Amino acid sequence: MRIGFIGLGIMGKPMVENLLKAGHEIVAFDILQKNVDKVAAMGATTATSPKAVAEQCNIIITMLPNSPHVKEVVMGEAGILQGANEGTILVDMSSIAPLVSQEIEKACRKKGVKMLDAPVSGGEPKAIDGSLSIMVGGEKEVFNQVYEVFMVMGASAVHCGDVGAGNTTKLANQVIVALNIAAVSEAFLLATKAGVDPKRVFEAIKGGLAGSTVMNTKIPMILERNFKPGFKVDLHIKDIGNALETGHKVGAALPLTATVMEMLQVLHADGWGEEDHSAIVKYYEKIVGDLLVK
Ligand code: NAD
Repeated sequence: MRIGFIGLGIMGKPMVENLLKAGHEIVAFDILQKNVDKVAAMGATTATSPKAVAEQCNIIITMLPNSPHVKEVVMGEAGILQGANEGTILVDMSSIAPLVSQEIEKACRKKGVKMLDAPVSGGEPKAIDGSLSIMVGGEKEVFNQVYEVFMVMGASAVHCGDVGAGNTTKLANQVIVALNIAAVSEAFLLATKAGVDPKRVFEAIKGGLAGSTVMNTKIPMILERNFKPGFKVDLHIKDIGNALETGHKVGAALPLTATVMEMLQVLHADGWGEEDHSAIVKYYEKIVGDLLVK
């Protein structure tokens, strides 16, 4: 199948690589030439604009930073909708605000373009090995048409509801992860301050009710003081901002999420925006005036 792919960054590049390996033809675009060159070297054809991609492909995937970038690429001057044929399927796999997904879908519908919002969880390692978790909103029939393509990039693709449901699911995921990292940081610093070795605490509780994928992934990193991202603080600020904005619009109160947002803002202001989100522990270390592990 010939597939258009726009947004060739940390996530987009390995996703393109897996699609090429599975025998798909890729027509790629990014505003950063060096990212275009990387996928061209893997065998992708390149195009000069989102419009040019749309003129050549009836299925187009976008993997862009946030809502304004997706709006620009789809609805902008040289955007997808300027070149798309009727019946084209747009699959936006970026993590953006669900209400913006719905706005973009309305514009697509006017041009006869079908749209799915299909953000992912799993990060770069799972993008590389093709085992992302994909959460999808949009018409079930369109989801079924794209399912095989999803399963090249992911280990699972779940239809969550109408357009916007994919990104709503992703926001729920991001809220849970951020709160979980904060909870783990708070609790482990309590243990350290009370004189108990955090390594022992981890060994003792990881198999119990408090155990979690977040604890198992992040505590070993924190104990080694390894804050190489994974998932950056600044990207989590973007997602938590989208969660708060969505919560305000739909009438859901998010008091804990609002608190974690302020912690993330402190980290950003202290110059840790490019670090892994497990750096939330540094917020606690700052207010307590001590390190979790010395
Ligand atoms: P990235 O910044 O590495 O890549 C984004 C790409 O989009 C860049 O190559 C950039 O040049 C390109 N781009 C920006 N504006 C553009 C435009 N107008 N036209 C064409 N290209 C444009 O980001 P990423 O880490 O690949 O993340 C992409 C999305 O996936 C984000 O929404 C992110 O939240 C989500 N996500 C990321 C991870 C992760 O661990 N990195 C995990 C899950 C989900």
